[in-house]
Amino acid sequence: MAETCNCLARRKISMTSVCPWCDLEQSNMHVFFHCPSNKQLWWVAWLWVVVRQGVGASVEDTVLNLFHRTSREEFMLVGNLLWVIWGERKRILHGGKERVEGRSL
Ligand SMILES: [Zn+2]
Repeated sequence: MAETCNCLARRKISMTSVCPWCDLEQSNMHVFFHCPSNKQLWWVAWLWVVVRQGVGASVEDTVLNLFHRTSREEFMLVGNLLWVIWGERKRILHGGKERVEGRSL
């Protein structure tokens, strides 16, 4: 395990369970829908109200709820934002910096 951690550390891959944006405990639900930093993205995209109403027990439940609660165009934006959040998280965990200063769209 220690060797695995060292290998990951050399590759600048974090083993932390802390959210890369707010230092709260990290889960997929937190990263996508509960993290204060990412809530701003949903606000900017005018999707926070529908996202808040559609949050389920898991990411899969939430995405399914959003599929039923949004127009086709809104759901495409939901997918794009999920992709952006996931990509940014992955980039940070692998030692990169946030690509967009201030996290605006
Ligand atoms: Zn967070």
